[in-house]
Amino acid sequence: MPVKNRLAEMHDEITAWRREIHANPEILYDLPKTTAMVAAKLREFGVDEVVEGIGRSGIVGVIRGKSDASGRCIGLRADMDALPMTEKTGLPYASGTPGKMHACGHDGHTAMLLGAAKYLAETRNFDGTVCVIFQPAEEGGAGGLAMVEDGMMDRFGIQEVYGMHNEPGLPVGEFGVAPGPIMAAADELEVVFHGKGGHAARPHLTIDPVPAACATVLALQTVSSRNTDPIQSIVVSICVLETESAATNVIDGQVRIAGTVRTLDEGVRDMAENRIRKIVEATAEAHGCRAEIDYRRGYPVTVNHDENARIAAEIAEAVAGKGKVIWGRPPRMGAEDFSYMLQARPGAFINVGNGDTANVHHPAYNFNDDAIPWGTSFFAELVERRMPAA
Ligand SMILES: [Zn+2]
Ligand SMILES: [Zn+2]
Repeated sequence: MPVKNRLAEMHDEITAWRREIHANPEILYDLPKTTAMVAAKLREFGVDEVVEGIGRSGIVGVIRGKSDASGRCIGLRADMDALPMTEKTGLPYASGTPGKMHACGHDGHTAMLLGAAKYLAETRNFDGTVCVIFQPAEEGGAGGLAMVEDGMMDRFGIQEVYGMHNEPGLPVGEFGVAPGPIMAAADELEVVFHGKGGHAARPHLTIDPVPAACATVLALQTVSSRNTDPIQSIVVSICVLETESAATNVIDGQVRIAGTVRTLDEGVRDMAENRIRKIVEATAEAHGCRAEIDYRRGYPVTVNHDENARIAAEIAEAVAGKGKVIWGRPPRMGAEDFSYMLQARPGAFINVGNGDTANVHHPAYNFNDDAIPWGTSFFAELVERRMPAA
């Protein structure tokens, strides 16, 4: 059975919600309009419990099935936050706020999970409990972690969790899922090299931090080429190199470099941090400078649990049909804070095709409303198959 008829019927309604969220983007934890809309809709659908303020501005809706002989509870998660960037789509429902835009499709994720919640509260054709999880601050604020640290999993008795992200380039009506690590840990590195400034024509009277910084940028590339098993994945990108002075005849007293370190394995992640600290310190010292290192650990590796990834693939195939689910797709070096929920409970993160759109985080990106029946049907089918009604 492909897309569920009832969900196909709801397509226009869910599309309208999606566009309303799109027109009113909010970022990080500061989501007053979005959370008010989500909570109001869940109450209107007759969801049994709607609890706000989990992990600051997260919401959990509890939907009980026709029966609860199984005693089981599945969490379904969507993210609600937008990005701090300016929209350039020219759409009639484009962001009304410069500097805020739903450029990652979280408007679509939220609308799809609302649609699934409406369907599940209407039909309740399952044995157990569903928690619909709407999280804040996926884009850099670790809202998923905030909800987990707020005790969400225990408080609601969530036993397994599933999340979904749209994927530009993957045709609408198709899914992608893989077992094991699927997205990277994202750490940030910032180093200030302290030397001694002076006149650029008398370098011998200075301690120039620029060569120290440049040598370090190059030396850091050996972390991937010389220290990491070639079969493993790592990215070390230094994206900033700056002095305070813009003058061409001044040797500045300090230089700042900053970048990102992406890994797919916690062991490689530890090794990389260790090597980076040593290389930075030793290279600075070799140039007579002092390095001040700020290494910040961000989201951990997103690891799908093998069994749940296989289940997600089966459900996706039941919805989309044979040949429409890419199994074992290669991991990406982007990061996702659903990783924290997957550390707390078994589960899987799946991609739903967004068709031929601009890529996520691009000012011309727009979530493809054609994907809605596929995403909502996946969630509904997952619940009905994982917790079949007696
Ligand atoms: Zn994003
Ligand atoms: Zn996203």
